[in-house]
Amino acid sequence: MSKKGRVFSGARPTGRQHLGNYLGAIKNYVALQEDYDCVYCIVDVHALTTVETTENLKQNTMEMALDWLAAGIRPEESILFVQSQVPQVMELHTYLSMVTQLGKLTDLPTFKEKVRQQPDNVNYGLLGYPVLMTADIVLYKTDIVPVGIDQAPHIEFAREIVRSFNFRYNTKVLIEPQVKHTEVPKVLGIDGKEKMSKSLNNHIELAATPEETKKRVLEMVTDPARIKRSDPGNPDVCNVFTMHKIFSPQSDVDMVNVECRRAGIGCVECKTLYARNLNKHLEPFRAKRAELASQPDLVSDVLNDGAKRARAIADKTMAEVREAMQLP
Ligand code: SF4
Repeated sequence: MSKKGRVFSGARPTGRQHLGNYLGAIKNYVALQEDYDCVYCIVDVHALTTVETTENLKQNTMEMALDWLAAGIRPEESILFVQSQVPQVMELHTYLSMVTQLGKLTDLPTFKEKVRQQPDNVNYGLLGYPVLMTADIVLYKTDIVPVGIDQAPHIEFAREIVRSFNFRYNTKVLIEPQVKHTEVPKVLGIDGKEKMSKSLNNHIELAATPEETKKRVLEMVTDPARIKRSDPGNPDVCNVFTMHKIFSPQSDVDMVNVECRRAGIGCVECKTLYARNLNKHLEPFRAKRAELASQPDLVSDVLNDGAKRARAIADKTMAEVREAMQLP
């Protein structure tokens, strides 16, 4: 069956992935493979705009790729590669920067936010980030970019850059990517307040052992109004219940929904049940991860092969781009 077009998505190398990464991106990446030719990129160059040291960059890249593969990215179909291994993207970034107005980049809320976050390191890369992101997308003749609703303006900006390029050079070589909205649940960390994130240390890693997972689950904050075991709780405001709804069988969800409200179940019991269901859900992932990790060169072979296939597409696009620009 022929596929509906090409999907591109990228993510920074953040090392071992957590439940937030899984529910927010990886699960969707895996599903998209059914209908689309998928190009998935670990964007290490983007990471350079914010990291202070590259000491862990390689390790984080390998761990992340291993998690993606264990979760179901199929490298024999999809292209999985590392951004810096396809240098053509830097060239396209430079050409696209010539058709992007500086004022538009400095006005972007994401740039202003970064300036607030790292006032001592407002580097040129931060400003050019959306241009490099556009180059990432269009270099592979991408039709579709899967994004959450809050990310859609970034793709609109990429479309504007593409239009400027095509208009300037009177060409159609670059494709305006379309947005595919994805339903991304907001996954809170074990603090029950902030989005799950490694930097906040409120995360649960996919590759954690069952014991580590249970320990983290037992640390989860529950309904803050439920102080004593005998107090009725409110599952609607409890992050443990939210996660039950994702990972537990419906019978457990229904039971917790009833019993919590009449103090028929304690929070420790409820969290133990969730930990058991989560561990069961992660069992195949962990087995696959262990199997892949036992083959020492497997991840680098997959990434090298992905980069080779990505470079073949990139070479073709860049030949068309240079011709459209009438470069000598
Ligand atoms: Fe949350 Fe479960 Fe405790 Fe209810 S019983 S407050 S759903 S952890």
